[in-house]
Amino acid sequence: MAASHGSIAVMSINNVLIDGFGRQHSYLRISVTDRCNLRCFYCMPRQGLVWRDKAHLLTYEEIERVARIFVEMGITKIRLTGGEPLVRKGLPNLARRLKQIDGLQCLAMTTNATLLAEHAADLRAGGMDALNISLDTFDRAKFERITYQDKYDVVMDGIKAALQEGFDTIKINMVAIAGVNDDEILDFARFALDNPVNVRFIEFMPFKDNDWDIQKVITYQEIKEKIEKVYRLQPRVIGDAGFDTSAVAKDFAMVDGKGWVSFISSMSDSFCSTCNRLRLTADGSIKSCLFAPSEINMRERLREGATDDDIRDMILYSLSRKPEAHPPAAEIAAQENRAMIQIGG
Ligand code: SAM
Ligand code: SF4
Repeated sequence: MAASHGSIAVMSINNVLIDGFGRQHSYLRISVTDRCNLRCFYCMPRQGLVWRDKAHLLTYEEIERVARIFVEMGITKIRLTGGEPLVRKGLPNLARRLKQIDGLQCLAMTTNATLLAEHAADLRAGGMDALNISLDTFDRAKFERITYQDKYDVVMDGIKAALQEGFDTIKINMVAIAGVNDDEILDFARFALDNPVNVRFIEFMPFKDNDWDIQKVITYQEIKEKIEKVYRLQPRVIGDAGFDTSAVAKDFAMVDGKGWVSFISSMSDSFCSTCNRLRLTADGSIKSCLFAPSEINMRERLREGATDDDIRDMILYSLSRKPEAHPPAAEIAAQENRAMIQIGG
């Protein structure tokens, strides 16, 4: 199927979703809820949010239907996210059903790990391939200052449970913020040395009311330099054993260690030209760019009886509106967009 929306032609031919800038899209991130049991200051607007009514969320049946169509059009990897995906009841069942979609090669989830100790085994048994776990500090008191919840111990239990289940990859997402956790960069590198995990240092990104300030961004170059004063890093390449490449990360093995580290340089060295992602929000909008407010809501159309062709058309229309690149950080910080917690990363 090919379509021309405005001046930008997009197509899905032979199960490949290509936008007007020649980028092939194979990765869909599905947010299943905007709710969360933590309130990380860099993600959740400081004044709080009104949670969306349940009726405004896609049902699991609707998510499964849309996901199946995305996969028919060329998506090979799906990541479940939130808010916190595990606060939505029955999430492991949704994961199990998605994993059965023909053509889906990888099912992953991003989680804060607070509920992982009780669900890790079920998720793995249902076919979940990989987990990204968010952890910004190894200091219990600081964890509470960042998340407004005293849940450091349950998170660490969740990480231990995940390590025992033998997921293909476990990534630890650390948002590096000056004056907050820059003193722990070496501790996180050490964690990657001692454990079979991929520690990913993420540059602090601006979102609605999230206390972002350019002075608080620690660039990947600064983080890497700091680590290399103590540890040896070896660039990782496609084909390295157990290595899950990503279009957005700069990846390095910890020499003589069990794991590896990556840098997500969204602010200092953006990766828009290789972006392969689309997003589906919990309330049913397709979002083709994390930083662009533009979105196409499918929920009402789905409930009014949209056919599979209608859904394909909405997906292509959203792809046609994907910008070539995101604007500079200061502009992103000033624009109206969803809060990060409502997008899911
Ligand atoms: N609740 C889950 C979690 O925390 O893993 C999934 C949703 S969370 C929004 C997804 C990822 O976005 C997390 O790894 C989080 O650290 C990251 N994130 C949130 N706000 C961010 C920001 N302002 N800059 C960079 N990363 C951010
Ligand atoms: Fe919740 Fe994840 Fe956002 Fe923290 S980063 S508030 S855990 S959604």
